[in-house]
Amino acid sequence: MLSCRDCFSIVTAVTKSQAANIKPITDHGANVLYQHGTLALLVPGLLEGTTTIGELLTHGDTGIGTGEGLDGELIILDGVAYKVGSSGMAERVPSDFTMPFANVHRAAFQYQCSRADIGLEDLNKRIVEANGRANTFFSVIVHGTFSFMKTRAVIKQQAPYPTLVEVADRQATFLRHDVKGTMLGYFSPVMFHGAAVAGFHEHFLSDDRTFGGHVLDAVLDRGDIYSQVFDTLVQHLPVDDPEYRNHDFSQDPIAAAISRAEGDVKN
Ligand SMILES: [Zn+2]
Repeated sequence: MLSCRDCFSIVTAVTKSQAANIKPITDHGANVLYQHGTLALLVPGLLEGTTTIGELLTHGDTGIGTGEGLDGELIILDGVAYKVGSSGMAERVPSDFTMPFANVHRAAFQYQCSRADIGLEDLNKRIVEANGRANTFFSVIVHGTFSFMKTRAVIKQQAPYPTLVEVADRQATFLRHDVKGTMLGYFSPVMFHGAAVAGFHEHFLSDDRTFGGHVLDAVLDRGDIYSQVFDTLVQHLPVDDPEYRNHDFSQDPIAAAISRAEGDVKN
């Protein structure tokens, strides 16, 4: 009988060979990541909703984002958008729901590997290693049973909006055990920290579509991992939003604020 250590090394070997085959797929624009807004514009509190779910869905069927005033954590799966607000419960959102920031793409995920009993940090590290693509945008879906899933949702803010760091303290956190669902993540290269958060940004939705949020920590009990690599980033900006047009970003602590609000802070 194999020990856990033996199993792990076999899985790693399989992973490397399969991950090496995961390349951008140009059919149907599946090589393109579309991003509306940047995380940097949330730093000084530019939280006005400047695109809609309806508009986003013309650029893809899969994605994550946040609502106006940081109203909840959004996840789009199979063309359907769900929001997890400060109650922790997921609800569908209408096509006129507005957002200051979102990522979306056309799903064409490829199977990468299966994993069992692995923590989020270790899992993320191994996905990047197996992909060998630390300088490339890619998306990951982890579908399976999580023995523990800790998420958060920011409490909706009203104008005049606070800064991102101030809002980071106004969040509700949720914990579920043995929950089955989908974790959808986007990986951004470190050189894009500011436009996005360097590393992974992951949201979760349970299979029964009732629970989710921005993932803070998790342990995957057993699940399958799928990756999709992008070679093109379409960066859409809210060019007609007066506050965005007039804001001076030169004094904003962009990198530090994003790391604190969206990065490895596990609170
Ligand atoms: Zn998030």
